[in-house]
Amino acid sequence: MKSLVPTTLRSEERALQREVRAFLDERLPPGAHPLGLGMSGEVDPEFSRDLAARGWVGMALPREYGGGGRTAVERQIVVEELLARGAPVGYHWVADRQSGPSIARNGTEEQRRRLLPGIARGELSFAIGMSEPDSGSDLASVRARAVRHRDGWLINGTKIWTSGAATATHVLGLFRTSEDRRGGLTQFIVEGDAAGLTISPIPFIDGTGHFCELSFDDVYVPDTARLGDVGAGWGQNTGELALERGGVDRWMSLMPVLEAWARSPEVRDSPVAQVDLGRVVSRLWAFRGMSLSIARLVDAGESPVAEAALVKEMATRFEQESVEIVRRHFGRTPDLGSDDPWESLLARAILVSPSWTIRGGTTEILRSVIAKGLVSR
Ligand SMILES: Cc1cc2nc3c(=O)[nH]c(=O)nc-3n(C[C@H](O)[C@H](O)[C@H](O)COP(=O)(O)OP(=O)(O)OC[C@H]3O[C@@H](n4cnc5c(N)ncnc54)[C@H](O)[C@@H]3O)c2cc1C
Repeated sequence: MKSLVPTTLRSEERALQREVRAFLDERLPPGAHPLGLGMSGEVDPEFSRDLAARGWVGMALPREYGGGGRTAVERQIVVEELLARGAPVGYHWVADRQSGPSIARNGTEEQRRRLLPGIARGELSFAIGMSEPDSGSDLASVRARAVRHRDGWLINGTKIWTSGAATATHVLGLFRTSEDRRGGLTQFIVEGDAAGLTISPIPFIDGTGHFCELSFDDVYVPDTARLGDVGAGWGQNTGELALERGGVDRWMSLMPVLEAWARSPEVRDSPVAQVDLGRVVSRLWAFRGMSLSIARLVDAGESPVAEAALVKEMATRFEQESVEIVRRHFGRTPDLGSDDPWESLLARAILVSPSWTIRGGTTEILRSVIAKGLVSR
């Protein structure tokens, strides 16, 4: 495993941080937007476009395709500020974090020109079509199938737990193109309004409907929808998961709750709560250092897969423990329908936090990735 070398922000990076804070003070004043739990923020295409107009969506995409050509660290600085405020990042999140970079890396010149500028303008929204009813951790067992048909492919099967699919313009999915377990998987970019694709929201425990089930019934896609070579899907997908796991989104879901709690009378008047706050903040600071070190490794051209898994494994368990700490000090059952946005957000966090160690790979699977990373070096 690469060592996570401690690092701090450079002066030009701090300047970017100040710029983003000033923009968000104006664009998202307190109370002006529904608070989100980290990357599960509200879907607000107008906010995504406004952010993109500042150059803060698709920051790490190449300039020749409309991206910012900025570093992973610079992108992390922007994302940190957004998540700290519970910003409505839902529309552009997946495209910005992983689908865009994957298309930049694996796509054809035509796909890059067709899709990346729209991602960088905050106009295109992507969902991840990996999991199936019988295939989650064991992703290589996916059964939804793409079969050659005329000049393109016919897709049949079911995807499930596809976050944000109902509002996404595109789904980047993993499909079986031959019987070879890993070598028989290929990625396709399917338009959300493709004929034969039915997208059905699944109610989530907090009353939201961002989860979806996708039914592909003879969905025809041209060969230009194929991302990468036939059979290259497994490797490409694994690369995407590294982008999905090591970021600040894994320990910042709860930031608006923690900030309100830190300022609350419960903490002001209770030395015991102050001790717990100190514990939470010191761990947050350590995770921040780890995510920053991972971003520096990415900027140095490394692929820190095991390091990213390590951050997700530790940080998602920390987030769940933090929910429990705040809940304990709250003293009563928080009300999901409360007029107080932070009480309502705490209630949501209690309901949904069990999912944080499942989405993006379960804790058990991450431990196996970490162990393999350790023994293979
Ligand atoms: C909030 C949320 C958002 C999601 N968004 C998306 C999305 O946008 N797109 C998408 O494709 N998927 C998404 N998922 C699905 C997610 O990736 C899967 O739920 C996850 O990978 C686990 O798969 P599974 O649910 O099939 O559980 P299973 O794989 O059936 O696992 C069940 C249990 O068995 C354990 N287990 C399984 N295999 C092993 C093993 N080899 N060793 C040890 N233990 C094992 C697991 O750790 C788990 O505890 C989302 C899930 C959640 C909760």
